[in-house]
Amino acid sequence: MTLFTNAVESIQIGVEDLSKNDDRRVLSAVRNVHAGVLLLCKEKLRRLSPDDEILLAQRFEPQPNDKGEVAIDGVGRNTVGADDIKKRFKTFHVALDWKRFDGMADIRHHMEHSYFKGSRERARQAVADAFLVIRQLLVEALQEDPLKTLGAECWTALLENADLFAAELQACQVTLKSVRWDTEAAARALPDFACPWCHSSLVRQRDPNNKSQPNAALTCAACGESAELGPVLSLAFDETFGAEGHIAVKDGGEPPISTCPECSEETYVVEEGRCAACDFTLPEDAACAICGNGLSAEDYYEHDGLCSYHAHVASKDD
Ligand SMILES: [Zn+2]
Ligand SMILES: [Zn+2]
Ligand SMILES: [Zn+2]
Repeated sequence: MTLFTNAVESIQIGVEDLSKNDDRRVLSAVRNVHAGVLLLCKEKLRRLSPDDEILLAQRFEPQPNDKGEVAIDGVGRNTVGADDIKKRFKTFHVALDWKRFDGMADIRHHMEHSYFKGSRERARQAVADAFLVIRQLLVEALQEDPLKTLGAECWTALLENADLFAAELQACQVTLKSVRWDTEAAARALPDFACPWCHSSLVRQRDPNNKSQPNAALTCAACGESAELGPVLSLAFDETFGAEGHIAVKDGGEPPISTCPECSEETYVVEEGRCAACDFTLPEDAACAICGNGLSAEDYYEHDGLCSYHAHVASKDD
């Protein structure tokens, strides 16, 4: 069996698992579809390799060949994992929706390591993510026709699952959009809201008519647990602002989001001078009473209006 047939069959079996009304098969659905996606990625690397499948090897080393020239050979039996796939796709300029690629893996990981209810809903999301990645891999990277490759039954099931999940997600998001969020940052992060318990995106407001943030009670439509705003925002901000944060710190700057000194969640929005989850606000003119330097949220909260230096000095005088 070729790598490509293997990939296709794995996806077909996963989709079949999901379509069966059997909760024991939902994890296997996610595993099979995820494995199929990884195999499709490997197929792309195989096709990119000159003639020796070298890009599938996890490690390679220069070796002398029989003519005494330098050859690069794969070593060991391990083939590429998700991280290497990402690196190689980037090196060879193969585009892929990595956010969904990671989302699908994250759901699989969570399903394998937690016992929360609602696994069918989460499987639905993982397979919806996979659907977009599969389409991109087949159409753009491998130039294969998805309908012909996967067969009408599997392809239609993937389309229907994606539609169904999109509709559920839409219904949840509508309830969040009606809230007047206290920060711009929270409004911007809405598409990344996720349940802190099961990581499903199906987070909704219990009362869809409520418009005030302090009264917003969130619940997860996948596992049914209620979710506090702090942890939900902290997860969402990591997605929305994570990359910006890394760049800012690398350039010696301040990350857009930091720990709120009051509620301890990663929800303090530096630019807006307030926490997105609780009512902690840094006054615009917050300055050290001794040197007049501007204060960070932490200084302001922890040191009674002194900068950390003068707070340190003052503590010595006591
Ligand atoms: Zn949940
Ligand atoms: Zn806070
Ligand atoms: Zn000072």
